[in-house]
Amino acid sequence: MNIILLGPPGAGKGTQAKRLERDYGIPQLATGDMLRAAVASGSELGQQAKKVMDAGELMPDELMVQMIEDRISHDDCKNGFILDGFPRTTAQAEALDAMLQKRGTALDHVIELKVDEEALVDRITGRYSCANCGAGYHDRYQPPKRDGVCDDCGGTEFKRRPDDNEETVRSRMQAYRDQTAPILPHYEQQEKLKRVDGMADIDAVTTQIKRILDGKA
Ligand code: ADP
Ligand code: AMP
Repeated sequence: MNIILLGPPGAGKGTQAKRLERDYGIPQLATGDMLRAAVASGSELGQQAKKVMDAGELMPDELMVQMIEDRISHDDCKNGFILDGFPRTTAQAEALDAMLQKRGTALDHVIELKVDEEALVDRITGRYSCANCGAGYHDRYQPPKRDGVCDDCGGTEFKRRPDDNEETVRSRMQAYRDQTAPILPHYEQQEKLKRVDGMADIDAVTTQIKRILDGKA
């Protein structure tokens, strides 16, 4: 099953993708995570990505398309994948269609998480993750069960993204409105777009998505 989770920064794509990865056995392909790994490695790509991400802008399409094309050719994607953060422009969406067609496959579901803009800033500025395993948390909405201890791996070190500050969030939302939201009609025309209420609590959002994936909605 090939799935895209779409929605503005902070909509809950990563949170839901990790749950679907676990429950459906298909990998989460998060371009933001791939770029952060490049930044951490100090590579040339990482240096470019750092500047773009800190400004809340988007990386060049060709680079991102190549990154995804390489990634979906890995063996672990043979039964499908969950795209999180890609595509983000019409050019990326079109390139994805072409690349899947070439591979004899297609998208099964494009799921948009609808969240009010005021809630997004709140979600993003409270977001943090486990420095060891990457599990995601929120100061108020998703704290670990034991204060300061990761639920998944027991780690006690946590980190926040440098671009999760209010100023950068505004630029990222502008990029979403200007460059990413215009791809929604692309998937509407293909009759693949389904919307879920991303304002609901995390479990309720998962339930809505699973109903779609299981053909019950
Ligand atoms: P995205 O990947 O779309 O940028 P995340 O999944 O990282 O968004 O979620 C952003 C923040 O909001 C995280 O800290 C997460 O814990 C929290 N969050 C995710 N979904 C919900 C929800 N339905 N209700 C409240 N908080 C949420
Ligand atoms: P995310 O983790 O999805 O919030 O992405 C973090 C940042 O990485 C974005 O603000 C962009 O600068 C960059 N990025 C991630 N995915 C893409 C993409 N598909 N196209 C362009 N830039 C991207």
